[in-house]
Parts: sequence; structure tokens; C-alpha cells
Amino acid sequence: MKPLDGDDLPQSHKLKTEGYETNKLVHLRQAIALISDHADPAAEIGVEEAGGQNVYVRQLGETLASLGWQVDMFTRKVDPKTPAIVQHSPHCRTIRLVAGPEQFIPRDEIFQFMPQFVQAFEAFRLKEAIHYPLVHTNYWLSGWIGLQLKKIHKIQLVHTYHSLGVVKYKVVPNLSPIADTRLSVEKQILEQADCVIANSPQEQEYLRTLVSQKGHIKVIPCGTDNYLRTVSKEQARAKLGLDPAEEIVLCVARFDPRKGIETAVRACAKSRAKTIGNLRLVIVGGSCPGRIDEQERKRIEQIVQEVGLAERTVFAGRVDHNVLPFYYSAADVCVIPSYYEPFGLVAIEAMACGTPVVASNVGGLKFTVLPEQTGLLAPPQDTVAFATAIDKILLDKQFSKQLSTQASVLVRERFSLVSIVSQLSNLYQYLIAQSIERCHC
Ligand code: UDP
Repeated sequence: MKPLDGDDLPQSHKLKTEGYETNKLVHLRQAIALISDHADPAAEIGVEEAGGQNVYVRQLGETLASLGWQVDMFTRKVDPKTPAIVQHSPHCRTIRLVAGPEQFIPRDEIFQFMPQFVQAFEAFRLKEAIHYPLVHTNYWLSGWIGLQLKKIHKIQLVHTYHSLGVVKYKVVPNLSPIADTRLSVEKQILEQADCVIANSPQEQEYLRTLVSQKGHIKVIPCGTDNYLRTVSKEQARAKLGLDPAEEIVLCVARFDPRKGIETAVRACAKSRAKTIGNLRLVIVGGSCPGRIDEQERKRIEQIVQEVGLAERTVFAGRVDHNVLPFYYSAADVCVIPSYYEPFGLVAIEAMACGTPVVASNVGGLKFTVLPEQTGLLAPPQDTVAFATAIDKILLDKQFSKQLSTQASVLVRERFSLVSIVSQLSNLYQYLIAQSIERCHC
């Protein structure tokens, strides 16, 4: 397989901490801050607005700490009952800052509280006497915070968008009142950050063609370490109480209409496995009473009834991230029918466990899923194309076995978490070194 493009920065070595620790000398780790305004790295994943970004930031922070950094991950506090600080490991913690009411607020409504976030961040930093020479922000709201911090201090600003307004607004029916502000801030971030991380070449292309020609972009995808926990299909089904003789189609997604769960259901209803009678559709994802994701879950449940799949569908609810590899390993195919998908962690997690993927040919999924090699791609909302692709994998066992082997090899080679985080760690070291050099000139 071809190596990834765009790896143009000099390689530097892992931070050396072990030697210092064994000699019992006090070693000061370099502190860095990750900011993730609405996506709490210590939160439960799989419900409304808690998904890939939370997982990305948490895995990034924990892995950076294991590579020798002191990592503080900042997020907005949304519940007075939760602790202000969560220690993930000795050198990695989540810090929940009070910025606006301590309650869940949809992300489109929290920009007004971001100045308070900046103040709370500064107050925390001063109280603890920490200087962060580098801040890595996630999502445009945090990017705005990063731009304000850059005005106050000499920090290096790295940014990951996770979702781009200009792309998202093409597929959502109603524009939020914050849309114009978001588009303008996203442009400023690209032009003013020291480096923007695009999670796929597709995202880099969108940034260059739809956002701005200015600014530095580096392509570094998301990673996963799920393959370390791969179990056989038989073991996984036994653990989950799933029938070893069924053809299992898995869908792991938040109940958000843009995730296209409806397409998965309608495609399964058209698939030959349904006619044969041995199909099982497993839908993983949580919902909260009274919230938008509960409405979407009810809508999906209704469609399941309408198409005659009630007996053949399991709603597994929210599944702990550490238990998910059992679901991936138990499945014959994982369906990702999103209308829009900036990266799509579920694709690499499923493939890591050797499960072929049928995905929409949009965004990051076009980068992670190699058609006919690790899965198949279909146009979003095209239930016939999805059904045909699902059948092709379920009915041709040799083809499916080939996809399965190649899928896990692909993830090991291109999306291993440690290797991805090492690329980011090298980038941070490079940027910090550059800024020190500039100070001395
Ligand atoms: N996830 C989870 N439990 C669930 C449902 C989802 O841990 O019940 C995780 C899943 O493993 C993945 C993330 O949530 O890491 C979803 O990320 P993705 O990028 O696929 O979609 P997003 O939710 O960010 O739109």
C-alpha cells in the first residue's frame, strides 16, 4: 500500500522521559493544551453531540502523554454534578471550565459563551502557573478561542476542524443563525493558525477550494488502536449473545438524521439476506430522553416496523467504547450511510476488527474505505445501491474474507493510533522549536 502523502515535516524523536524517571531526577514535561469546547474527552460517547471528536481528543491526549507530554484537555462544563478535573493518567487530565450555564447547550448556541471560556482558561492557567507554548484546538468554536489566546500569548496554534461549515451546510436543510459567523471564523482559523490538520486529502481539498488559499495545512488522519482487541467472530457473538448462524449487519451511529440510519434500514429490507430470513440488523447508538436524538430514534423505530424488520432488528443503545470491538468483530458487514462525514472513525474501527464496510461515497469515507479492497462505497441515500453492496459482501464469502483481511492490514498500516499521534507529536515539537528560534533571532 502507498504511504500517506503530505508528510513533509522533519522527523524528530520521541520525548525522552524514561531515563530521567529511572534516575529519580525531577523531569519537567512540556505542557500543551488541547481545547475541545463541546466535546468532553471524559464524557460517555455515543449520544447526541458526543461522538468522534470526544474520542479523537481523548485518544490524542492519552497517547501524547504516553509519548512524554504533559497534556491538559479543556472543555466546557455541562453538569454541576461532574468533577471539574478528571485525571486520565498521571500526565493527562480533562479540565472542565465554567463558560455559561452548567447544562447541555447545542453547539450552535454556545458561541456567546466562548469569551467566558477564554477568561476561565486564563484564570486556570494563572492559578496553576502553567504556560502552554502550543494549543491544539478542535472544532471552530475552540479555534476561535485559540485565535483569542494567540492575541494574548506567543502560542503555536494547531487546529483540527472535525466538521466544516461550508461542506455541512450543503447537505443540511435549515441553516443555523450562527452559520455566517462560523464560516468567517473557519476562514480566519485557516489563515492565522500555525498549522491546520486535515484528517483526509478530501478535507484538505475542501479547505483549499472552499475556505482559503492561505495558511498551512498538513494531512494527518485519525487513528485507532481497536485492532489490538480483535476477537474471532464466534467469540464476539458468544459474548454478545448473537446467533452464530445469522448474517449480521451493523450500524454504529448517533441518532442524527445526517448519519443516514434510515438508509441502512431500508437497504436491509431490500437485501436478499432478509428474504432468506437470516438477516440481523444491529443498531448501536444512544439517545437521551427529551432530546433530538430520541426523536430520531423513534423515527427509525417506526421505519423498522414499516419495512417489516422489527423481528430482525436489535437496538443495542449506547455501547461503551471498549466493548464496541466485540460488536464490530461479531458483524459480517458494517454500514456507514452518512449524508456527510468529515472523517468517520467508525469506518476505521470496523476495518481494524476485520469487518468489511459499506459506506456512502462522501468526505473522509472516500479516503478510508478502499472500494473492492476493504469494503464498498455507494451514493448516500441510495437504498438499492446499499442493498446490492450489502448482498455482495454477505453472499460471497470468499470476497468478504478478502475484504476482511485487507481491511485490518490497511488500518495497521495507515491508521495505527501511535503512529498517527507520533506524527502530531513531531509536528508540535517542530512548531515549538521554530517559535523558540524566531524568538532568538
Ligand atoms: N461510539 C461509541 N459508542 C456508541 C456509539 C459510538 O463509543 O454507542 C463511538 C464510536 O466508536 C466512534 C465515535 O463514537 O469512535 C463516533 O465517531 P464518528 O467519527 O464515526 O462519528 P461522529 O459521532 O463523530 O459523527
